Amino acid sequence: MGVRTESFLLLPWCTQPTVGGVDSLDKVCADISACGTCPRLVQWRESVAIEKRASFRNDEYWGKGVPGFGDPNATVWVMGLAPAAHGANRTGRMFTGDRSGDWLYRAMHKAGLATQELSVGRDDGLQLTGAWVSSAVRCAPPDNKPTIDERDACRTYLVRERELLTQIRVVVCLGSFAYEAVCKEWGVKPRPKFGHGVEAVATDGTTIICSFHPSQQNTFTGKLTEPMIDAVFSRATEIASTR
Ligand code: SF4
Repeated sequence: MGVRTESFLLLPWCTQPTVGGVDSLDKVCADISACGTCPRLVQWRESVAIEKRASFRNDEYWGKGVPGFGDPNATVWVMGLAPAAHGANRTGRMFTGDRSGDWLYRAMHKAGLATQELSVGRDDGLQLTGAWVSSAVRCAPPDNKPTIDERDACRTYLVRERELLTQIRVVVCLGSFAYEAVCKEWGVKPRPKFGHGVEAVATDGTTIICSFHPSQQNTFTGKLTEPMIDAVFSRATEIASTR
């Protein structure tokens, strides 16, 4: 069996789930890790964890829903699409163990939101300061394409995190899928057309900033460059610190 059986309690940013009816980020973490709502995604995340990529054949894959990660007092929320099959689905932490994460955390470190660029595993020492990283869908989907039904099923975790992350002023959306999910949740109407650097302000004052996703497809082709993603995070921290 290639799926990790360790308790979510061992996640460094998840401590003890709240007992009783009061929600907490720890409880959201625990519930995501244990979630089996979407049969197609459960089957996929677990089959990837069993079959593995050859270069990671000695790794024990996470193979479950991947919780959000970061600072409970975050003012900047980074929203991805979904865990990568051999990245977060392997390591159990968002944008960890793949090239997209290298790009993301390098930029966040430069902006003062991450303690280091390195993001290779849950025990690598990375901490976020003033930032939270999660995704619109919390399980790795085939071809990086969740269905609308899967997005809507996973919305419950977005709603709960939003309730609990009370200091958020800026949401950075990595790609159009995340942008659409965030605009829907924050009630942005009309929604400006997605484009790198495009901003929208929700009725609650939250600024939503678009970024091209730091996927290899975008970074290899030069569609997204380091100065481009740096500019997004520079803008996000500027807004977060002045509003
Ligand atoms: S995508 Fe979300 S709702 Fe669906 S199984 Fe994963 S964590 Fe649960």
